[in-house]
Amino acid sequence: MTWDNVPIYLMLVVTELSEAMEAWRDDNPEAFKEEVADALIRIFHMCGDLKMDVSNAINVKMLVNRTRPYKHGRKRV
Ligand SMILES: [Mg+2]
Repeated sequence: MTWDNVPIYLMLVVTELSEAMEAWRDDNPEAFKEEVADALIRIFHMCGDLKMDVSNAINVKMLVNRTRPYKHGRKRV
């Protein structure tokens, strides 16, 4: 896995999320759960291959998100 392969890995994640959407449409919570798990596995696999410290990135981003106003200050629609 290299940086050049990132688009392939991202599309694999999208495929799993599409399968989750299909499970939702079928009103199948068990299949939905499995497809969400597949998407997360794909993401963590990619991060591992890229040697990304995704745990730290999540923690940093959660701290940033806490400083943001609701809907980034946009009005409700
Ligand atoms: Mg799947």
